[in-house]
Amino acid sequence: MKEDLKKEVEKCRKCELWKTRINIVFGEGNPQTKIMFIGEAPGLNEAKTGRPFCGAAGKILDELLESAGIKREEIYITNILKCRPPENRNPQADEIEACTPYLEKQIEIIKPKVICTLGNYSTKYIFEKYGLKDQIQGISKIHGEIFKVKNLFQSINIIPLYHPAVVTYNINMKETLKEDFKILEQFK
Ligand code: URA
Ligand code: SF4
Repeated sequence: MKEDLKKEVEKCRKCELWKTRINIVFGEGNPQTKIMFIGEAPGLNEAKTGRPFCGAAGKILDELLESAGIKREEIYITNILKCRPPENRNPQADEIEACTPYLEKQIEIIKPKVICTLGNYSTKYIFEKYGLKDQIQGISKIHGEIFKVKNLFQSINIIPLYHPAVVTYNINMKETLKEDFKILEQFK
């Protein structure tokens, strides 16, 4: 089922981003995981390799995961958008709308107990999806908090986190992120 979904994304032309696509970045990791990470969109390294978080932000993410005692192979990582926006510009609303049905399917397949959203875009999207719209604030206000949501079938812990790329602009943020990542130790 996953492979079919990936093949569908490879052919996707639902938004303009297919025109400048090098490779899609579908997502990778352990589909049986309890913990799913959702970033924003592929950068150039990711588009070249087809793998999420394999550039500068990925190095920081690896370090943060390690500091929480989590191996990258244990979790699943994907993004809101599967194709790279030109010049790494921000995702547009129409692109998010076109692309997120794929993310929805990934969430349905993986059924994570914990969803970590990296940065404002994925936080906003996931908060809206899970009925937390009235609690959306900038990531600087809500990072590192656990938001529990329940439906008939499952309960999910949503944890908004700063995007690891913030550390490339401000090295002091690394400690804040490490503190936040410690929260994950209880879900391993
Ligand atoms: N930033 C993201 O949000 N996702 C990636 O895959 C790489 C960088
Ligand atoms: Fe399709 Fe998503 Fe790529 Fe747009 S970003 S072309 S919706 S896979």
